[in-house]
Amino acid sequence: MSDCLFCRIAAGEIPSTPYYSDENVYAFADIDPKAPFHAVVIPRAHIPSAAAVDPTNSEAVARVFEAIAKIAAEQGLDKGFRVVTNVGEDGGQTVPHLHFHLLGRRLLAWPPG
Ligand code: 5GP
Ligand code: ZN
Repeated sequence: MSDCLFCRIAAGEIPSTPYYSDENVYAFADIDPKAPFHAVVIPRAHIPSAAAVDPTNSEAVARVFEAIAKIAAEQGLDKGFRVVTNVGEDGGQTVPHLHFHLLGRRLLAWPPG
């Protein structure tokens, strides 16, 4: 998917600041951080959103959450953190490649806006 922003970031065609990389997962600093620590964690496989997760691709989601646990430990987010995925127009999704926001280093209000 050469026209997908996050596929291009994962391929290194668009520069980003990496937090984690393996054959299945890439995590990088959000360009417009919403917390003192804000990573975007993506499967390398192009999945449009959480609405498109099914038994053929859900392994990628497990790999993403394994990476999230590693990143959170590496970053010392011992007091907690939040993982968010926005879906579609009402969910506020702006990039149509499944991604998880990993937010931390501040108290995060609940419920979100
Ligand atoms: P969404 O709004 O779809 O849930 O999340 C997309 C996220 O990607 C936003 O938080 C936005 O700041 C981030 N983003 C958009 N374009 C780029 C980019 O070119 N580089 C990086 N590092 N982050 C981006
Ligand atoms: Zn993509």
